[in-house]
Amino acid sequence: MDISFEVYPPRNPDDGPKLEAAILKLAELDPKFISVTFGAGGSSTKNSLEVLRFIRTNTTSMPLAHLTCVGTTESEARSLVHQFADAGIVDFLALRGDLPDGQEAPGPDSLARTDQLVSLIRSTQKSSGQVAVAAFPNGHPESGATRSDLDALKAKQDAGADFAITQLFFYTRDYFDFIELARSRGITIPIIAGIMPIVSAKRLQRVVELTGEENPTELADALANASSPEQRTEVGIDWAAKQVAELREAGIDAVHLYAFNEYKNVTEVLRRSGARS
Ligand code: FAD
Repeated sequence: MDISFEVYPPRNPDDGPKLEAAILKLAELDPKFISVTFGAGGSSTKNSLEVLRFIRTNTTSMPLAHLTCVGTTESEARSLVHQFADAGIVDFLALRGDLPDGQEAPGPDSLARTDQLVSLIRSTQKSSGQVAVAAFPNGHPESGATRSDLDALKAKQDAGADFAITQLFFYTRDYFDFIELARSRGITIPIIAGIMPIVSAKRLQRVVELTGEENPTELADALANASSPEQRTEVGIDWAAKQVAELREAGIDAVHLYAFNEYKNVTEVLRRSGARS
């Protein structure tokens, strides 16, 4: 099974060496790529780039740069793509991002949709770089009953996206149903399942708030009933490992793990699921 990981730039410079050590451990699991998140509006450009450079220089995995476009003009986005390319980073996960709290609409010159960013990367980045995009098995919080997230995904595919990575989901049935729905709407690109081991009730609450996913009662109860941090870690790893095992059994050939800048939990998820020995 192909695997990949997501990390984020260290929030505190002192955490840099710890992240680099984790990346080297993650790289031993032979991931196809390691993606690095990006602060909307470019707040983390320098730090993201440093982490991407580290991956490029010290591992054989493809560094995949998240890039957001909302609040960014076309020429600013183009120069960001050039800045990454000059550092040897040519593969991108194109995202819209979110406006800062309190801001209702992007400025008049700002890019507003991800398909615009995909086209811009494609036209700026003429080398063989790949462009990934996000997909939402249970719908994006803005997508409503018409599932406009699927129209958005189709627009991103039509603009030249090579593959998609999903938002986390808690039940594999949601992923299988989504693939069926996406294929029925003419979406043909590979859609990699995003899996997040959740090892505390606090983290679960935060991701449910951020993603708009429905609270998974069974997981929430199991985390609440666990009596120590070690037990909660067990619960979270087991849940994610079961998801990966179910995907493997169904013949799914790739998963993307949200690693939270450490390697032990995701390594254990892959081992328990049988995806890695
Ligand atoms: P899109 O999927 O492009 O669109 C969002 C919604 O707008 C759609 O669901 C739809 O309702 C509507 N819409 C857009 N285009 C159309 C269209 N053509 N037709 C109809 N409706 C449309 N955020 C960060 O700030 N930094 C990161 O590094 C980051 N990494 C992420 C990684 C992954 C794997 C995922 C799943 C999300 C990530 N995000 C990140 C969050 C992302 O920025 C948010 O989901 C944001 O709200 C929307 O960006 P998008 O690219 O997902 O939007």
